[in-house]
Amino acid sequence: MSKHSNSLKEDLKARLNREQFHVTQEAGTERPFTGKYNAHKESGMYLCVCCGDELFASGAKFDSGTGWPSFWEPATAEAVDTARDTSYGMVREEVVCARCGAHLGHVFNDGPQPTGLRYCINSASLDFESGEGD
Ligand code: FE
Repeated sequence: MSKHSNSLKEDLKARLNREQFHVTQEAGTERPFTGKYNAHKESGMYLCVCCGDELFASGAKFDSGTGWPSFWEPATAEAVDTARDTSYGMVREEVVCARCGAHLGHVFNDGPQPTGLRYCINSASLDFESGEGD
């Protein structure tokens, strides 16, 4: 699930809050409409809460109405990895941080153009840095 060694896991456990740890390290999901970045509209970059890597730019964020921060593309093609997830009796594509393996959310094929993708991401997986946003 995660590329972290045990010592890094301990470090994350100390640094992250319970929900951030559960979502990123145990593939948890925050309840919809509860995350701090769901309705967040500032210009800037969303970073991995675990390793600080740049994951999603605010310019690709859109209001999906699902209750989770939603993006139509990652910041770069290399920023995230995907993997088939068959948990809970569903077939979904899990999205993880390509650098550290943190669970971020899932990607679906019902997003807006130009990609038609909807990266459905937990706020608990993200940090935010104000800036250009593209
Ligand atoms: Fe990361």
